[in-house]
Amino acid sequence: MPAQTRLFMCLKDNFGVLLHDPGSGRTAAIDAPEAAPVEAALEATGWKLSDILVTHHHGDHTGGIEELKRRYRCRVLAPEGEAGGIPAVDETMREGDTVRVGAIEGRVIVTPGHTAAPATLYFPADKLVFAGDTLFSIGCGRVIEGTMEQMWQSMLKLRALPDDTMVHCGHEYTLANIRFAKTIEPDNKALAAREREVTALLAAGKPTAPARLGDEKAANPFLRADVPEVAKAVGMAGAPAAEVFAEIRTRKNKF
Ligand SMILES: [Zn+2]
Repeated sequence: MPAQTRLFMCLKDNFGVLLHDPGSGRTAAIDAPEAAPVEAALEATGWKLSDILVTHHHGDHTGGIEELKRRYRCRVLAPEGEAGGIPAVDETMREGDTVRVGAIEGRVIVTPGHTAAPATLYFPADKLVFAGDTLFSIGCGRVIEGTMEQMWQSMLKLRALPDDTMVHCGHEYTLANIRFAKTIEPDNKALAAREREVTALLAAGKPTAPARLGDEKAANPFLRADVPEVAKAVGMAGAPAAEVFAEIRTRKNKF
């Protein structure tokens, strides 16, 4: 049976999401920014929390873990390289590990850059990826603990996934990301199409996640640093892609 998801807002602009296996009844929260919205989503769906899959150690992704674990006695899985900074961890995840939520099976992709060793969780049969703060719709996370080169390599790992993969991310930043992306590629038709879609979603009070990865590949400048026109647009024709990526990320920091 295909996985079911439930998306909701937490804190100021964090996405919370539940991943549910209808066969076994197991339900995972992908990150736990705070407990109350996760509990409200569980109540609305009637699902029972069995697991918390943590993408990275930042407090706005882990703040609800202890309270939820006390209440539901759920299993907490965290990336091995960041487990020391995450509360109440039961099991750790490494690159290539298989993660199971009942019959739903995912693969761990470690994507350093935003933090040292975050876990991006890819569920191929369900065509879902949970990218935390590594990849946003039309954006990417700030490069805080890793290097620009590592973050670019992480972008390439995610770009290698199939176009019909739906990308869940950690924050509702899409409209601001689009405003920035237009400064890099003002004539990108896929970007214009995503802007129309996002404007309509937000006007209807709906979230802009998940995003289709194929659309992101066509419109997200951070996935396009090796496209010659993008390098040219930032005055770096012929430069290595990681340097073009670093330039775009640096411009976004100042935007
Ligand atoms: Zn973060």
